[in-house]
Amino acid sequence: MATSVGERTMVLQRERTPFENVNMQFDLSADRLQLDQNYRDFLKRPVRELLVNVTIKDRNGCLRSFEGYRIQHNNARGPYKGGLRYHPEVNLEEVRALASLMTWKCAVVNIPFGGGKGGISIDPSTLNEYEIQEVTRSFTRAISQFIGPQTDIPAPDVNTNAKVMGYLLDEYQRLHGFTPAVVTGKPLALGGSLGRNEATGRGVMFATREMLKANGDRIEGKSVVIQGFGNVGSHTAKYAHEMGAKVIGVSDAFAAFYDPKGLDVNKLWECQLRDGSIKNFDAQQAKISRDEILFTECDVLIPAALGEVITRGNANGVKARWVIEAANHPLTPEADLILTDKGVHVLPDIITNAGGVYVSYLEWVQNQNNFYWKEEEVNERLNDSMTSAFRNVHEVMVNENTNNPGQKFPCTYRRAAYMVAIKRVYEATKLRGL
Ligand code: GLU
Repeated sequence: MATSVGERTMVLQRERTPFENVNMQFDLSADRLQLDQNYRDFLKRPVRELLVNVTIKDRNGCLRSFEGYRIQHNNARGPYKGGLRYHPEVNLEEVRALASLMTWKCAVVNIPFGGGKGGISIDPSTLNEYEIQEVTRSFTRAISQFIGPQTDIPAPDVNTNAKVMGYLLDEYQRLHGFTPAVVTGKPLALGGSLGRNEATGRGVMFATREMLKANGDRIEGKSVVIQGFGNVGSHTAKYAHEMGAKVIGVSDAFAAFYDPKGLDVNKLWECQLRDGSIKNFDAQQAKISRDEILFTECDVLIPAALGEVITRGNANGVKARWVIEAANHPLTPEADLILTDKGVHVLPDIITNAGGVYVSYLEWVQNQNNFYWKEEEVNERLNDSMTSAFRNVHEVMVNENTNNPGQKFPCTYRRAAYMVAIKRVYEATKLRGL
């Protein structure tokens, strides 16, 4: 089947995997950089892939085993860096995609890390706290030879948090001695950084603010819809509200609410903290179906949950003018082109949600120095870095479009962000003599 969707005609014999989709984005920017095929092959391929058997004795003493992955995508610029995800949909191709996104993300915000990602194919809602701890310890033992402060540094991701990172730290310590810098996103009492928990959502809004500004607009008064109310979505809602935007729609895995007059963000938070979900938010408030949330009327749409939720099949239904990828790869390449053709500005994941890994970097620096900063200091650095990373990408985009007046398809934020990232990783690779 051939679908002409703008920038190129994509021939689909079958659906591409998430990793193939990320590599398609890579290639479209590599084309603009006229990057050699040999380097493309090298830069796309993960350096190392670990597939491990995660085994535990469950609460009843029964043996259970799960598939665990750690993909080390690229370390040309520094140790592999990236989160650890617990989700039933985790699989090798998904983790490969997420690992490579980390390479490009760390390069865009210019921190000295490469990219990696881990995941375990489990449904954490079926496990109790004891079992989550056992799963984390088993996984840590399985990969412990291959991680470390100068090798590979895990962090939280979907369905993992500071507590889980604490278990990882402890298990690693049993094997290798006290090493807080082996993991970031830890509890404060174990060497975590102030501001890390909030960092991704905060960074999302810093980047959004800059994008609107660069386009002669402003965040104040904008109506915002957020899909997902986990760590990223909930903090994004909080800072959107603090910046003067109006949060008019939110959803999580159980419910969705939409009210053009605005939702009470504090109440949503109270509900989330109390019930672990927004489902009991407000009986008076208009509930909509979760599937509708991405297609509601709003200025700014922020997918902040899982990958590939906006596709060729539904992208036309998006009504927002600005789409901010707080989740990793929420748009397929076709959806990206459809939205671009409609004149929607899309801010890509590798810059939008880089605030999390940026503050992970600050945490790692603090761990190495055994000296801890005030939260304002962390937030200020985050603001500066997100702002300059965005401005740099914006400048590359504008230059590309100015220098190529006859081009059929304009350079987008995604094209420019990948160009910045690829150039940096390529340069580090070349300087190593490779
Ligand atoms: N899981 C987050 C991400 O996808 C943060 C990774 C990190 O801090 O290493 O960017």
